[in-house]
Amino acid sequence: MEIEAAVLRSTDAPFTLETAQLAEPGPGQILVEVHGVGFCHTDLLPRTPGFAATLPIVAGHEGAGIVRALGPGVTGIDSGTHVLMSFDSCGGCGKCLTGHPSYCSSFWPRNMPNHSAGTHDPIRDMQDNPVSSRWFGQSSFATHALATIRNVVPIDPRLDLTLVGPLGCSMQTGAGAILNSLAVQAGSSVVVLGTGSVGLAAVMAARVAGATTIVAVDRNTERLAMAERLGATDTMEAGVDLGRMLRKATRGGADYALDTTGISEVIAEGIAGLCSTGVIGLVSAPKTDLLLPAATLARGKTVTGILEGDAVPQRLIPDLIELWQQSRFPFDELVQTYPLSHINDAERDMISGKTIKPVLVPAR
Ligand SMILES: [Zn+2]
Ligand SMILES: [Zn+2]
Repeated sequence: MEIEAAVLRSTDAPFTLETAQLAEPGPGQILVEVHGVGFCHTDLLPRTPGFAATLPIVAGHEGAGIVRALGPGVTGIDSGTHVLMSFDSCGGCGKCLTGHPSYCSSFWPRNMPNHSAGTHDPIRDMQDNPVSSRWFGQSSFATHALATIRNVVPIDPRLDLTLVGPLGCSMQTGAGAILNSLAVQAGSSVVVLGTGSVGLAAVMAARVAGATTIVAVDRNTERLAMAERLGATDTMEAGVDLGRMLRKATRGGADYALDTTGISEVIAEGIAGLCSTGVIGLVSAPKTDLLLPAATLARGKTVTGILEGDAVPQRLIPDLIELWQQSRFPFDELVQTYPLSHINDAERDMISGKTIKPVLVPAR
C-alpha cells in the first residue's frame, strides 16, 4: 500500500516526507494506522556516522494507532483495536521466557534492522529501492507501520492516540528503570541525572515508589522547575563537585541513581554521590568510555546498564496508564504535538530543549 513516511537519507540531511510503498502484513505481522508517534533521542542514532543502521531509514518507535489488517496466523487481536507500539522481542529465548524481553537474544536485529544484513524490508521508496524499516519493530514516522503481536499493547479506545505514544519507549524506560531494575523502595533517596523525558518519567516513578528524597540534576533550569512540579524534592544544576553536592542533598549518599545523559563525567559524579551499596543505572547510549578509579566501587556500589526499563510492555504500560489516570504519572505535561510534516522542527526543538517530548501526528 501507499504510505507517507519521514525518511532519513543521510546523517546530516533533514528528514524528507515521501510517498513510499509498505508491504502487506506478512505472517505474524499487524498493520497499524499511526495516529501519533513520539520522537525519542534514540531516533537520532541513525544520524551517527558509522552507526549500524543503513540509510535511508524510516525511524520512529513510539507509535500509537489503530490496527487495520492482520497478517496470516495472527490471533488474539482484532482489526480496529487501538494499540501502542513498543520494542520487539522473540518470546522464546531464555530472557523473554523469564520476563525480560528487552534483553531478548535477538533484541538488536529485531529493533535496529539493517537492510544490508539481508533482512526483508517492507518499505520501498518510489524508485523501488529498499528503505531500512521495522525500526524497533515498527518504523512509525509514517502514516502506517507493520508491528507484531509481541510489540503491540492494546489500549482503551477512549485514550487520545496523539498523546500516548511515548509510553512505548521513553516513559517506559524511565519508569521501568525505577520500578523494575532499581526497584526503588519507599523512604529511599533517588538521584536522576538529566531531566529529558526519560529522566522526568523516572522522577514521577520515584515519587510513585515512595522515595522521600528525589534529586533532579540538569543544566536546563526550566526542566528542573518541571522536575520539581513532577515530584523532585531537590533540584541541582550540573557543575563542579556534583558528587559531593549529591551526598549532601541525600544526607550521606543516594540509595539509587539513574543516569540519562550518557556523559561519563556525569556518571562518575553520580557514582560518587551514592551511599555504600548504592546502585546507579545507565539508560543512555554512552557517548564516551566510562573510566573510573579502581577503588570507586569498593564500598559495595553497583553500576548496571538498563534497556527499555527491563519492562514487559504489555504489563508496565497499562500500569502507567492507570497511574496517569489517577494523576500520579502526568506524562502528558511533557508532550507537544507537531504535524508529521514538521518533523524537522520537532527534532530541532527536542535537541534545543524547547520541547521535552514531541509527538508527531500524520495527516489524514
Ligand atoms: Zn527473546
Ligand atoms: Zn526510545
